[in-house]
Amino acid sequence: MKALVLPKLGGWQDLVVTDVPVPEIQRPDEVRVRVHTAGINHLDLFILGGLPGIEYTFPHIVGSDAAGTIESVGSAVTDWAVGDRVMMNPGIGCNACGLCAADQQPLCRDYHLLGEHVPGTIGEFVVVPQGNLARVPDDMPWSQAAGFSLAALTAWRMMTGRARVRAGETVLIWGIGGGVAQACTRIARLLGATSIVTSSSDEKLERARALGADHLLNHVTTDVPRAVRAITEGRNADVVIDNVGEATWQKSLRALGRGGRLVTCGGTTGPMVTTDVRKLFWYQWDLMGSTMGGDREYQEVARHAAEGRLWPVVDSVVPLSEGREAFRRMADGAQFGKLVIEVAA
Ligand SMILES: [Zn+2]
Repeated sequence: MKALVLPKLGGWQDLVVTDVPVPEIQRPDEVRVRVHTAGINHLDLFILGGLPGIEYTFPHIVGSDAAGTIESVGSAVTDWAVGDRVMMNPGIGCNACGLCAADQQPLCRDYHLLGEHVPGTIGEFVVVPQGNLARVPDDMPWSQAAGFSLAALTAWRMMTGRARVRAGETVLIWGIGGGVAQACTRIARLLGATSIVTSSSDEKLERARALGADHLLNHVTTDVPRAVRAITEGRNADVVIDNVGEATWQKSLRALGRGGRLVTCGGTTGPMVTTDVRKLFWYQWDLMGSTMGGDREYQEVARHAAEGRLWPVVDSVVPLSEGREAFRRMADGAQFGKLVIEVAA
């Protein structure tokens, strides 16, 4: 089958489309999905250069998000049939330990991600356990289904499971061009919270209005903490969603109110940040990490999708042969929403 692969550790420039063996169903609860569309995420860029503790088998198929139709099922698959339209939670736990039972798959010692620890989604077929699947709503285009799962699931855990955002609260969300930030903005609206979103691009900010963003701040031309203080009449944000890291951490803390919660699921500008411990205890902040989500959380976001909510914005769709271009656009930060690769027409 054709797949977009990384032949060796490197960068997006090294990605090539090549022939690889079709993956086989290994366990009775797995299904093989014929991929129609695959989405890419910032995570995919980090994988290209290698991650500590992860051994790849080359050529490594990249990509964590996909949507397609079930092509074959293992002997113990009861919930799904050949031909079903599905999208998938890329995170796979052992489903035998106490953490998995508590919907804490991302904390499972055997947790692994499609495209990170095991072969990814940007190929004609991918094999996943049936518990990782959700139905693609009948009226949802393949392009949106491809980009739904990772961002919506990650944002859902950050906003609900971790920050526990409540109606009437104010949430500051950095970098509205990204899929997780956009999903967080929609979830804020869903929960009855007020969102303040930032971007370096006025054009992206204008587009964020359609997502339900309440306040728009250009973080190049605006002092964000000062603006947040003004918007909240001195209270500052109840919750900050910061996936930017080094470039924004200090500003995030300056914008965080008393008893505030900061949640991060990444640091796109660098991982090392500093925090004044006096402010941490005096203001009784909660600084939280979050990654991906559990199977039950995935079913929750899938239910929202089934009812027409949280569908991602698609930046662009390219054919598999131009998959490397989607990664370049991600590396440049040029996108607004999901970059999608059409694997099969
Ligand atoms: Zn487990």
